[in-house]
Amino acid sequence: MELLPFTRPDIDEETIAAVADVLRSGWLTTGPKCRELEAALSLRAGGRPVRVVNSATAALEFALRIAGIGPGDEVITTSLTWVATSNVILAVGAKPVFIDVDPATRLIDLSQVDAAVNERTRAILPVDLAGLPVDRDRLNELAARYRLRVIEDAAQSQGAHWRGRELGSFGDLVAFSFHPNKNMTTGEGGCLVMNSEDEARQFEKLRLQGVTRNADGTYDCDVLGGKANLTDIAAAIGLGQIKRLDQANLRRRELARLYFLKLAGLSVDLPQADFENSNWHMFQVLLPAGLAAQRAEVMHLLREAGIATGIHYPAIHTMSLYKARGLAQRPLPYTESVAARILTLPLFPAMHDADVDRVATALRNALATLGAREVPA
Ligand SMILES: *Cc1c(COP(=O)(O)O)cnc(C)c1O
Repeated sequence: MELLPFTRPDIDEETIAAVADVLRSGWLTTGPKCRELEAALSLRAGGRPVRVVNSATAALEFALRIAGIGPGDEVITTSLTWVATSNVILAVGAKPVFIDVDPATRLIDLSQVDAAVNERTRAILPVDLAGLPVDRDRLNELAARYRLRVIEDAAQSQGAHWRGRELGSFGDLVAFSFHPNKNMTTGEGGCLVMNSEDEARQFEKLRLQGVTRNADGTYDCDVLGGKANLTDIAAAIGLGQIKRLDQANLRRRELARLYFLKLAGLSVDLPQADFENSNWHMFQVLLPAGLAAQRAEVMHLLREAGIATGIHYPAIHTMSLYKARGLAQRPLPYTESVAARILTLPLFPAMHDADVDRVATALRNALATLGAREVPA
């Protein structure tokens, strides 16, 4: 039996041909395809400036630098995310301050922001885990109240919405990822949506050695930039992907609905049933608390049934680097409980309805094998 992965990128033949065209064109690095992709992304972002880079990690780090965040500053964020989210805060010399998640949404619990803010707090860095958006009304209201910048880690939420508006089309600084696991990919890549052409110019410098080109062909370097520009090869993939993003997200939503039907009655906690805002980047269940210690066995039983699953994510504040730096300060009981129980089930647009059945049956059997009781209807 072929292994069902938990995710798989879907690249069409037209995109493969477009990549071949770039390879034949004689121009491989940042060029016309990157500018075309930036224009297409900007169109989705309501005309706001967008610039591409080779990862969302770079986009987030540059966003922090553009916001002027550095040593001595604190950034409020979540610990239930990919470690890039807070590594970038450390990279600019600032301190991540983790607050707990809401166990129902698994997202940063905004009601805890008030207690975490102090005179060193400069920004909030929320994460739309699994593509479920953090409440943008409350988020932006808190930012206004405390005069904080908002750097949205929207790495997982391309094409997701908040009350009818697409993410990126409003707010402060918004970063998306184009890693192959995300809802649209460039192989590797990312972008930042910004507020002004001035910020966009700063971003352009940061992504390529801090260099500004002069009209006479010379150039200057007045800030320490990095090397994070995207290639036109990658941008060609992105142009093929962005055309299909909405359709792909619709298919993900259909599959998510099917999961809700098929998993009913199992003793797992289902994700928030949001069929309006979320882009269904992942479908994640929480195992019953009594089975948390046996998650590896659940995963093993599923794999024997031909189904790959994932853990997204172990909590960042429990990582060695973060403990060594004394960044595991507050108790984060919900984050720890969710991190111990969370399991990502397969979800990607090319999946068949029958695959959902297969996963549901295998999960039901695995839970039964390990002695979890079904919940009476
Ligand atoms: C994928 C991801 C990132 C990093 O994206 P890259 O493009 O791999 O740098 C950051 N934050 C979250 C929440 C992610 O899922």
